[in-house]
Amino acid sequence: MPLYVTCANRRTIALPELLASRDARQTRQQQWQTTYATPLISFTTVAPGPIKDSELSRRIFNHGIRSLRQMLAASGWQIVHQRCFGLATGAEGLLAVDAPALALKQACIALEQHHPLGRLWDIDVFMPQGELLTRQALAHPPRRCLLCERDARLCARERAHSVNELLNHMERLLHDAENAPQR
Ligand SMILES: [Zn+2]
Repeated sequence: MPLYVTCANRRTIALPELLASRDARQTRQQQWQTTYATPLISFTTVAPGPIKDSELSRRIFNHGIRSLRQMLAASGWQIVHQRCFGLATGAEGLLAVDAPALALKQACIALEQHHPLGRLWDIDVFMPQGELLTRQALAHPPRRCLLCERDARLCARERAHSVNELLNHMERLLHDAENAPQR
């Protein structure tokens, strides 16, 4: 299930390709919803800059998939179907899970908030009918920026931080997480 880190594509991705990849992801999500009719986890990682599939982002992705699977197993929720896509536009994971959607979303938010790498993960949860559960719907505040205390969307819109600053910070988080005592 984890992606091979050394197979990362490392190609520069321009906006049209990124937008097309979002459409393709949405189509895939809808197909899975039709096929499995369960809540769906769509997992991607934060990837600032034009290179979306790197060894760094694959490592962060693999940690996330592992943590998601551990959380699901610990909760007794069964994975009906799962797949990882090593795309040049960024790794994506899809997991159809037999679980109550709201509790599943809460558990995913808890992972994003409490795991040392959680801030680098985007864990979307869809209802069986296809509706995306938002943090706001569950009364969680929007996510903070990686580097400062502001709303992440503001810093992204204003490009408040350089890509290098963001990537360096991500490298540091990954290094700390991989060298911390076993959780
Ligand atoms: Zn910021």
